[in-house]
Amino acid sequence: MRAMRKPAKLFSNTPPREEYFRRFEAFIRKKYGDEMVLEWVEDPSIRSGFRLEVGSHVYDWSEKGLLLQFKESINELHHTDELSIIPLLQDFLQNWTPKVLAEEIGEVLTVGDGIATVSGLENAAYGEILLFESGIRGMVQELRRDKIGCILFGDCDQVTQGSAVKRTGKTAGMPVGSGFIGRVVDALGRPVDHKGGISFTQYRPIERPAPGIIDRQSVNEPLETGILAIDSMFPIGKGQRELIIGDRQTGKTSIAVDAILNQKGKDVICIYVAIGQKASSVSQLVEKLAAAGAMDYTAVVISRASDPASLQYIAPYAGCALGEYFMEKGRDVLIVYDDLSKHAVAYRALSLLLERSPGREAYPGDVFYLHSRLLERAAHLSEERGGGSMTALPIVETQAGDVSAYIPTNIISITDGQIFLESGLFLSGQRPAVNVGLSVSRVGSAAQTKALKSAVGTLRLDLSQYREMEVFTQFSSDLDDATKEKLAYGQGLMYLLRQSNGAALTQFEQTILLIAALGKILTDIPLDKISTFKKGMLRYIQKNAPDLRAIADNDQAFDDKLKEEIIELAQAYKKTFRV
Ligand code: ATP
Ligand code: MG
Repeated sequence: MRAMRKPAKLFSNTPPREEYFRRFEAFIRKKYGDEMVLEWVEDPSIRSGFRLEVGSHVYDWSEKGLLLQFKESINELHHTDELSIIPLLQDFLQNWTPKVLAEEIGEVLTVGDGIATVSGLENAAYGEILLFESGIRGMVQELRRDKIGCILFGDCDQVTQGSAVKRTGKTAGMPVGSGFIGRVVDALGRPVDHKGGISFTQYRPIERPAPGIIDRQSVNEPLETGILAIDSMFPIGKGQRELIIGDRQTGKTSIAVDAILNQKGKDVICIYVAIGQKASSVSQLVEKLAAAGAMDYTAVVISRASDPASLQYIAPYAGCALGEYFMEKGRDVLIVYDDLSKHAVAYRALSLLLERSPGREAYPGDVFYLHSRLLERAAHLSEERGGGSMTALPIVETQAGDVSAYIPTNIISITDGQIFLESGLFLSGQRPAVNVGLSVSRVGSAAQTKALKSAVGTLRLDLSQYREMEVFTQFSSDLDDATKEKLAYGQGLMYLLRQSNGAALTQFEQTILLIAALGKILTDIPLDKISTFKKGMLRYIQKNAPDLRAIADNDQAFDDKLKEEIIELAQAYKKTFRV
């Protein structure tokens, strides 16, 4: 309102004729009130035509303005397939008509560190995309009484103080479509893998409300990771959010990647979002996925450590928008956010630069909402909404195993469970280094297959008893036979859970291994031979009892009689096993 009391200005190269001037004045008085006064300003730069400014509203009939408008419209074409650019340009030139609508134009007050403050855009909304004179885009992140703070999605050197900024009325969007499968894109959906343009079906806002309760159904189908320690004790269901948490270099990414690799042939679309990672590690990961044929059903969204914090901040939302597109088409999606600690750090950097008041550990007060509004979008949609699902595997890095730090506790409370990876276990060779006591899956067991559920039995309990006993007996030398036996049994179970990368086990294999191990088959096998023994035993059982597999595949439970049969087979194999 304040801006409207300013005098209106009419810019032109030469003084306007009296008659035209009166007409402009009548127009602005009608539109903005009788107190408006119009003054003429000479501006040779606009060449021909007029430009009328009323507060932050600008009506541009000038040659300069039209040229700029033309340039912007051409720039908007940029996103589409490069191969079809010529027919597209022809079509564009035929249909282009200049618009002389009132535009809200503001002015850059300050710029630096990927942030610009802008004045004069009183009606700009939170999350709206602003267009700077140089063609750079930004997103409104902070609304103040007299200025707005905006994060820039490009080189801030190209934005200068005093230059013009325009509202677009649009919120940040991500192009989506099945063309993204097999591709590597940045946080704005632009390809970075030199494989040409990506044709897309629609733009989706990167931020969207999560599906409501009515639109969801309970998690009732397993999402198999192929990792025994996870599928048996901390099963993940389609639509679940399971956190992978642990210190640096404890195999967090490996678990997520194994889960992606294991979706081959299972009709699940995977999205891997790299946040603030080294470009070299991401390219290695993409190579690994491609070599295993996983890029046939996977899209990768990356924001590198060297990218501006603004891109790191929007990357997970962009990946999520892409996932939602497939979920709403009734597909199953697995999305990995690697990792949300770096995401929180990028957001903290932006918030401090936007001069928001810092709270605990210098994070702004809304950092909880940052992740809850992202992870809430994972869902298992109801049949009316197509029955699709999006399973989220966020990753969080802890410092010295401290799960009670600010960001870890926030995310633990948002997710449906966590897989806690322990550095000590990892270094001792227990890989994947899943800490059985601190890990949990709050919904997945409802989606576990009957076969696996019937085989798991007391595994978790036995393992925790073993861990306790191990600490207890560490320094004692003379142990009685019963204790020794218990220790050997527990050790066997720990070795059972060791699994190298990319060596996924089917649900059937997992079931057999568990039944045999809980039947104390592994107790007297030397520890370094357990891995060979497992493989041999699986081969032997599949060869000698080929009908067992059908039971697991038909989602039936293994009763005591069947378990007995499997243990007998395992024992028979053990007799042939040469140590
Ligand atoms: P960062 O903190 O750097 O992101 P991270 O926790 O994601 O690390 P990874 O990169 O997954 O850890 O794994 C670290 C190393 O451990 C890799 O070299 C990987 O090959 C190895 N590793 C991970 N899991 C296993 C496993 N089950 N068996 C053997 N080696 C493993
Ligand atoms: Mg990692």
